[in-house]
Amino acid sequence: MVFESRMAVGLAALESEWKEFFTSLGEKPFRATQAFHRLHRKFAASWGECLEFPLPLRQKLSEICPLDDLNILHSNTTEEGTEKVVFEARPDPRGRPRRLESVWIVSGERRTICISSQVGCSLNCRFCATATLPFQGNLSAAEILAQVYSLIRHRKELPTNIVFMGMGEPFYNYDAVLRAADFLHHPQGLGLGARHITISTAGVIPGIERFITEKRPYNLAISLNVPLEENRSALMDINERYGLKDLLQIAVRYTKELKRKITFEYIMMPDYNMDSRSLQALIRIARQLPCRINLIPLNTDFEGFRPPTDEEALKFQVALRQAGILAFNRGNPGKKINGACGMLALKMV
Ligand code: SAH
Repeated sequence: MVFESRMAVGLAALESEWKEFFTSLGEKPFRATQAFHRLHRKFAASWGECLEFPLPLRQKLSEICPLDDLNILHSNTTEEGTEKVVFEARPDPRGRPRRLESVWIVSGERRTICISSQVGCSLNCRFCATATLPFQGNLSAAEILAQVYSLIRHRKELPTNIVFMGMGEPFYNYDAVLRAADFLHHPQGLGLGARHITISTAGVIPGIERFITEKRPYNLAISLNVPLEENRSALMDINERYGLKDLLQIAVRYTKELKRKITFEYIMMPDYNMDSRSLQALIRIARQLPCRINLIPLNTDFEGFRPPTDEEALKFQVALRQAGILAFNRGNPGKKINGACGMLALKMV
């Protein structure tokens, strides 16, 4: 109830669920609309902030469904204004602390919040630091939203974009992730355009299928990373479950049925995926469907891995461009504060 209360309020606007809840408390249904506004538009951290409610109602709500928020445990900011925050959520049933990270990324006019969908991650991608943490399960939709709302209050500004690219695999927590996205998109809430919200998956095919069937309006990104089947399996366990061939097939279906470009993320790892065979394989893939490729220079320094030099990165990007493929180098904002892609492992420096 603690974290779900914020959700129930949101659903009221769509399904009158929360109206029923307020009615069941002996309150008028318009209280649901007021609550939605306070929680999802004004980002209230407690019922105490619902000043239009009489005090007894505020007290009652605080008792029966307290809006427990995420606490900021640690934060670190770069000179450019990119900030990584470590949040403390309520402990797991065994009493172990649950910690997660979000990153506020400043890039030109964009202010993007990168949020987590799980505590740790159940995948085991060899290059990703999150994989080194214990996996502690899914975040609730309310906890996913609380990352955004808490950062808005902390920064005193609004984000222009949200990306589900923090800890965890969003499509292993499909319901909560999509619920949270719906709230962020809701016109009575933050009201972000659907194309300003991106969900990234390492390739969970059933999740992509559901996303297509439900005609979800959000951007979809696939962490392709390695374009050759056997090499991909060596670095990303998930490829053994959902192979590249099927993954590409569903990606093509996405672009056809939803008539949208897909984004492929591609970590540049010179020892694994920047040779000419990989380059040609990537070009072959990209020519099959409308897509853009976001190149990410490797951020971690695990044994056996090295990031590309600037020349290597540029050469790879130019080769893709010359093949007629949209390819961008996303750089690594937040690297100095352990807040760039693949670095979210609760380091507090
Ligand atoms: N599990 C989802 C959501 C996480 S997104 C997914 O994989 O898409 C995190 C992004 O960071 C992914 O695109 C991933 O490929 C990338 N990444 C992981 N480790 C990285 C590293 N060490 N350096 C750069 N990017 C990395």
